[in-house]
Amino acid sequence: MIPIDDARAQVLDACQVLPVVEVDAPDMVGRVLAQDVVASENVPPFANSAVDGFGVRSHDVTTVPVRLRVVGTLAAGAPPDVSVGPGEAVRIMTGAVIPTGVDAVVMVEDSSMVGDDLVELTKAAQPGGAIRDEGSDVTAGSTVFRVGQVLNAAGIGVLASINARRVKSVARARVALLSTGDELVIDGSPLKPGQIRESNLTMLDRMIRDTGCEVTNLGVVRDDEDTLVEVLTRAVETCDAIVTSGGVSMGDFDVVKAVLSRHARMNWMQLAIKPAKPFAFGLWKNSRDVEVPIFGLPGNPVSSLISYELIARPALRKMMGHTVDLLRPKIRAVLDAPIARKPDGKVHYVRVHGNFSSDGRLHVRDTGPQGSHQLAATALANGLAEVPDGPGLTAGADVDVLLID
Ligand code: AMP
Ligand code: MG
Repeated sequence: MIPIDDARAQVLDACQVLPVVEVDAPDMVGRVLAQDVVASENVPPFANSAVDGFGVRSHDVTTVPVRLRVVGTLAAGAPPDVSVGPGEAVRIMTGAVIPTGVDAVVMVEDSSMVGDDLVELTKAAQPGGAIRDEGSDVTAGSTVFRVGQVLNAAGIGVLASINARRVKSVARARVALLSTGDELVIDGSPLKPGQIRESNLTMLDRMIRDTGCEVTNLGVVRDDEDTLVEVLTRAVETCDAIVTSGGVSMGDFDVVKAVLSRHARMNWMQLAIKPAKPFAFGLWKNSRDVEVPIFGLPGNPVSSLISYELIARPALRKMMGHTVDLLRPKIRAVLDAPIARKPDGKVHYVRVHGNFSSDGRLHVRDTGPQGSHQLAATALANGLAEVPDGPGLTAGADVDVLLID
């Protein structure tokens, strides 16, 4: 058996970062920048008012109350076609251009009108008060984001604010997904003896999309080597990676393992973890001599999920240019209920649910039956507790938890 960290390192090593592409800025959420972004414009592009109020010359408003003559009104978006002299003020709205003569704004809450054209201000003004300077968010010529940065929603908002409409990014991985098994029913028809409902395609499709990839769902492939070879041969021409479910263990009909051993450079591993011991990693050369990674996950639904999380997801993230946080964040949590296990040379990934408590720590307990076919309890989990080899853990023990939600 091979330790999970070694297995992951081998797989990551064999997976190459995808090419750089140019994308529309709004499509950058969750993606990795392949360029520095230098602002070509100031944000804001002009000095403007931070509040609704009155633009004044600050030395007119050092002792209050004071009355000033109102010489006009400026709205956001309007040209600043007024200038303010001594003893004068301009009614100004949030975002409107600061006009000539004004060096401070007094908010409307600190004013009252006296007749039609006099305003009484009750709060002293400081030079620059309530004025947002040109370039005070982003200065033209400055680097706002660097290569490798992953953008969030605010990030694409910043790109919009500086009019960066297209940016370079590492390509999203196009991932083909298929499930193998003669017993699998996918179309909702009544189950015949020996048949079960297919569940991994639905689950993995979502997980792969959540990783930031595009998915081509190829459905269920029967346990037939020729068919699988045909499907994979076609898939490697148009995809950057392939995820398969089932057929990688020691059974007579484990077709993925058999096919990869013959047609790909296969690294079949017995991972020192439970669940998800068997894992097949293949590199399948397409007609352009590109070796396409194939992640052969085991078919038991919980095993599929765990080996996707621990190996395939980090590898796909590497391919899409991520250099940090390839794995889920790990936190040392407190176990609120004991976890029993026996020594077997493996790390057990126990599905747990946890909440942060008033002591500032994450407190977790297992979510129920932990068999590799028991997806229902796994669905209640927001963490995977790494229970080390040995006799198990007692309540109150520390345990490392991968946060999967
Ligand atoms: P395998 O890895 O193909 O040996 O399958 C291991 C177990 O997982 C068997 O009990 C299969 O019936 C079950 N299984 C395999 N693939 C799926 C799937 N896509 N959905 C649900 N169960 C599956
Ligand atoms: Mg099978």
